Amino acid sequence: MERKTFQLGDIVQMKKQHPCGTNEMEIIRMGMDIRIKCTGCQHSVLIPRAKFEKNMKKVLRSVEGPLGQ
Ligand SMILES: [Zn+2]
Repeated sequence: MERKTFQLGDIVQMKKQHPCGTNEMEIIRMGMDIRIKCTGCQHSVLIPRAKFEKNMKKVLRSVEGPLGQ
């Protein structure tokens, strides 16, 4: 199974797309809860980490460059 690693500033793809039609989200705050911002409409939501990990499909672009290190 693929490990999910993510960090602040990453662009992630969620399993369920945002109502605006975009499913690329930027992680803008990390903690007990994670705040993600829609790259389409700039709307941001705060969701519990467990729920985020469950709903995230994959990291599209990482701030640290190529994945799989
Ligand atoms: Zn949106």
